[in-house]
Amino acid sequence: MNTKQIIIRKREGDELSERELRFLVEGFISGEIPDYQMAAFLMAVYFQGMSFDETYLLTKIMIESGQRVNLNHLDKLPIDKHSTGGVGDKVSLILAPLVSSAGVAVPMISGRGLGHSGGTLDKLEAIPGFRTNLTINEFINQIEEIGVAMIGQTAEIVPADRKIYALRDSTGTIASIPLVVASILSKKIAEGAKALVLDIKTGKGAFFRTQENAMTLAERLIAISEKFGLGTTALMTKMDQPLGYAVGNWLETREAIDTLKGRGPRDVLDITLALGAEMLYQAKIVDNIVLGQEKLTHLLESGIAFEKFLILVEAQGGNVSLIENPDQYLKSKYDLTIFSERDGYIRSIDALKIGLLSMEIGAGRKKMSDQVDYVAGILLQKKVGEPIRKGDPLAKIFYSKEISSIYLKKEIHDAIEIGDELHQTPPLILKYFNKKGMSDW
Ligand code: URA
Repeated sequence: MNTKQIIIRKREGDELSERELRFLVEGFISGEIPDYQMAAFLMAVYFQGMSFDETYLLTKIMIESGQRVNLNHLDKLPIDKHSTGGVGDKVSLILAPLVSSAGVAVPMISGRGLGHSGGTLDKLEAIPGFRTNLTINEFINQIEEIGVAMIGQTAEIVPADRKIYALRDSTGTIASIPLVVASILSKKIAEGAKALVLDIKTGKGAFFRTQENAMTLAERLIAISEKFGLGTTALMTKMDQPLGYAVGNWLETREAIDTLKGRGPRDVLDITLALGAEMLYQAKIVDNIVLGQEKLTHLLESGIAFEKFLILVEAQGGNVSLIENPDQYLKSKYDLTIFSERDGYIRSIDALKIGLLSMEIGAGRKKMSDQVDYVAGILLQKKVGEPIRKGDPLAKIFYSKEISSIYLKKEIHDAIEIGDELHQTPPLILKYFNKKGMSDW
């Protein structure tokens, strides 16, 4: 088979066969197909898309690139959650220990930051010592022992997603429905989950900005899940402003710790409780969403969920004392506070601009070989709808690179719009999807 011919066929919009897709994925993993050819193929998929069958086959081939974890022996139902990518989205760090403390087994495989959006793996690795590369046996043993494990794609599990994900990140090929579907579902099916709850982001800081595209993504994810026997439901949620106040790896881990201690920002808490309650409902631990939210609120307020996070961090080799005393974390070389130049109300905070700025100051990667600065990030001081006075802090920026403070100030003022009047903020959770279709949440 000829790699160049396959790229050309996809470029022309042809439907590829299982043999062709397998040849590409396997050749790329083994190193026979170089990055530049795979990048060209991914760009062809970005523009031409893939049929339902091709998307299914790509997902299957990516799963088969590694081993598939079997969790059938567990006495708890293994359920996972995944977000399609947002700014300030630290929900997985809270949700995994939280729902596990409610009796769900959580075998979570996550990814690193993608483009302007953060990744759970980078946030976990901001905790010194935290191992995200457990072996399959360590992964299974930990789920048996404490009910939760959080890892990344490894050489053993979904190696295809590990390599393709990193390449997509640096080649502008993230926002492609078939590539996102294959990336997310290959991880979730390979990890042994029996049900999945998705957070489909829409808005300025999402990869699929319009509700129409986000809906198509949700439907495709659910339909392909069905073909693998994975029961999947989804919430469509707003990603116009960053979630919470913190953007950047350690800052977000820290905000997750606060949330696990019952002191989280309202929007982070609302999404966590909604997704978590849906997971408990799917696991048949509660009869309805309201009961699920009550149960989870109790687990947060009583400190049980935070205790579970400490157990998880310890099990994966992370520094527990930093989680207990987060003030002792390494400090950035510089910090800069940016102040409001007028009175008014926060009208909008552009999640994409904030995500790109946080990447630029070191919290994300511009190319595959970049090292992430865990301490770099932006701490918003206000959220949409809050009143502000001239001279009040708008945002704090933590960074260690040499960057002009005039530039940083301009970027923050460009990203945060202040108006004279208070506007109604739209709801955070827009829609609910299951295999029967879409409904209100
Ligand atoms: N999350 C993933 O795991 N993959 C994507 O492509 C996007 C979000």
